[in-house]
Amino acid sequence: MTRVCVDADRCEGHGRCYTLAPDVFDADELGHSIVRIENVTGELEAQAVDAEQNCPEGAITLSR
Ligand code: SF4
Repeated sequence: MTRVCVDADRCEGHGRCYTLAPDVFDADELGHSIVRIENVTGELEAQAVDAEQNCPEGAITLSR
């Protein structure tokens, strides 16, 4: 089980997370990231890792 967290102060709304991991992340009205599913496993965890590795602001934290 991995816990997904987005630092709203760092997120600049590039949208890579919800493009790469649409089941885990969504966008708010300004394009900033919202975590849809906080605790992930399996395929959702793989999506979250992909997003975390591709966030240009380092705004995504995964806790195991
Ligand atoms: S990829 Fe990073 S900076 Fe871009 S919307 Fe997602 S959390 Fe925010």
